[in-house]
Amino acid sequence: MAEARKIFLQVAMKVEAEPLLSALVAVRIAPDWCPGLPFEFYQANHRGLEITFGLPGNDPVHSFDSIGSVPAGLLAYLGITHLQPDLVLNAGTCGGFHSLHHRISEVFIGTRFVAFHHRRSSIPAMQNYGFGKYPVANSAELRNALKLSEGIVSSGDALDYSDDDRVYMKQSGATLKEMEAAAIGWACHFFGTPLLLVKSVTDLVDHPDDTASQFLRNYARAADTLKIEVLRILDYLAENSSDPVWNHSAISDT
Ligand code: SAH
Repeated sequence: MAEARKIFLQVAMKVEAEPLLSALVAVRIAPDWCPGLPFEFYQANHRGLEITFGLPGNDPVHSFDSIGSVPAGLLAYLGITHLQPDLVLNAGTCGGFHSLHHRISEVFIGTRFVAFHHRRSSIPAMQNYGFGKYPVANSAELRNALKLSEGIVSSGDALDYSDDDRVYMKQSGATLKEMEAAAIGWACHFFGTPLLLVKSVTDLVDHPDDTASQFLRNYARAADTLKIEVLRILDYLAENSSDPVWNHSAISDT
């Protein structure tokens, strides 16, 4: 029998992960390879897939989930090097655009690449590095089979949508805004590990209501649709072991 496929399923906030942890009856584990950090790990088996959840955990100083790029990059690095997953799946919430007809709790797959929008510089040589544009898994067949929408994900360490964010996201062509995916993409690209991005919309960044109140109003609904679509994706992955998503050498999704 072929070896079970391993997935590292990274989620930034506990409230985003909870519906999935329950649905997969995931059990908390305490690996010994990241002492001193608040990171949390949970394990589940789903139809022959070995799934390890990685959450950045509660920041003990600020009593808040350790969201953002620094914990995300470190967690991805530790997960990849210690677990050697066949795939990193980053599930989470994001901001979408009213002008692009995105809807609250709609779930998107990140395609083309994953970029940053906050690493800004007017030094030309630094600009490309700033965007990053790290590869994402080739999800064309999966999206087609599951009828999932696509978008280009961009990360920055702020919840608001500043004028500079607008300029940088326009330049990269990004259509979904969040705070972790590009840092995870940075870690994945060193190891050739495919990265599948699954993002549920909590807020519309070009809506007159401020992002934080939209987020608080909508995150439970968004986490529920995220759970539904991630479970469909896991079922699909369990049944399609030769889908290009798994392919380490074809990780650019154009
Ligand atoms: N306001 C929330 C804070 C979390 S929002 C609260 O008080 O509970 C930030 C998290 O949601 C991040 O992990 C990020 O990836 C995601 N997110 C959702 N919408 C976002 C947006 N419009 N901009 C940036 N991150 C967003």
